[in-house]
Amino acid sequence: MAGVIPIEPQGCASHEVLRERGQREVFCGLTGIVWMHRKMQDAFFLVVGSRTCAHLIQSAAGVMIFAEPRFATAIIDERDLAGLADANAELDRVVAQLLQRRPDIRTLFLVGSCPSEVIKLDLARAAQRLDAQHFPQVRVLNYSGSGIETTFTQGEDACLAALVPHMPQAKPAAAPQLLVVGTLADVVEDQLQRLLHAMGIDDVAFLPARHSRSLPEVGQNTRMLLAQPYLADTARALQARGAVHVPAPYPLGAVGTTAWLGAAGDAFGVTRAHLLSVTEAARQRASRALAKQREVLQGKSVFFFPDSQLEIPLARFVSQELGMRLTEVGTPYLHRAHMAPELEQLPQDVRLSEGQDVERQLDRVHAQRPDLVVCGLGLANPLEARGLTTKWSIELVFTPIQGYDQAGDLAELFARPLNRGMRLAA
Ligand code: SF4
Repeated sequence: MAGVIPIEPQGCASHEVLRERGQREVFCGLTGIVWMHRKMQDAFFLVVGSRTCAHLIQSAAGVMIFAEPRFATAIIDERDLAGLADANAELDRVVAQLLQRRPDIRTLFLVGSCPSEVIKLDLARAAQRLDAQHFPQVRVLNYSGSGIETTFTQGEDACLAALVPHMPQAKPAAAPQLLVVGTLADVVEDQLQRLLHAMGIDDVAFLPARHSRSLPEVGQNTRMLLAQPYLADTARALQARGAVHVPAPYPLGAVGTTAWLGAAGDAFGVTRAHLLSVTEAARQRASRALAKQREVLQGKSVFFFPDSQLEIPLARFVSQELGMRLTEVGTPYLHRAHMAPELEQLPQDVRLSEGQDVERQLDRVHAQRPDLVVCGLGLANPLEARGLTTKWSIELVFTPIQGYDQAGDLAELFARPLNRGMRLAA
């Protein structure tokens, strides 16, 4: 097992957390549409929002559209804001037009925004009304992507939570099923599914599925394995339907992926020896890819601003598998139960922070001057101007990074800005 680092807790589960409640610098939940519209190929996301919302989505996703887009914005204008127009009538008209033009749509998400919340447009009721009109051809659901109180990955959580009530109920006597929860790129989903099948876990379902209406069953024999760390509401809704959470770290890097598969294996009676034999070749490939990037990253210090909620699993990965030194690891929210297997692997001396007070955090980052800062887009340029090297955290969400075959690419995302800095300095 050359180069694979053993899964041994370093004991940070009880680490003290600095809690901050100040000004925040984060994107809103609309951003999730960018990766979810690529996953659910027959769904459409209709943002009910302003020109600002439309601009955000277009600029975030524009470069990635190769076919007719599966999202749009129904613009709320000044007349709506002033209460002069019936926003519901306008919405019904826009939806009818859209569905007539796009008969391929099977699920339509009405996505709430700050403006729709400001005018108190009841999108839950609108979705019910439109669903009654258009189901079974189209299912109409709603969730909020508003940026007032959320961080950008919570848009996915809200979207998946909206799907849960529509999942069929599994029979009490149904055979145990593994439900993998969280959007994964198709290539990653295929790889992980192959490995799970090779381990002997045959009944594996994914939420979301590629076809938005192929919703898996859920019930007391569902074993829920989270593939993304920001799905608190979805997990709660699934548990209320009987699903049992399988605690696991997240499938990042060779160690993380082995531990994630191992947690599934434990829940389905797969022996450790069988897991290691099935994953042997993939672990070897991942180890070789990581060794190359470790030459650049070993001993380098890294500071994570709170942004995507992926920060703790990423910090575990870079410290445990690449030998980076963690200075501060910020997360917008800390879900102790979902994060426990990751926290156990973090070094004792790392500073964890939850929430944000951006000015204070900037003071700390300038005082520490880490080799690499992982942060949101809004902070990257000012930090670069002050001589720090940055990585956009959103890139780590948009890129397929889970699983063995992506471990090298994930490490390279951290190494690239440092390599670029070295080339510029040479
Ligand atoms: S939902 Fe709110 S934060 Fe997001 S783009 Fe629209 S106005 Fe801005």
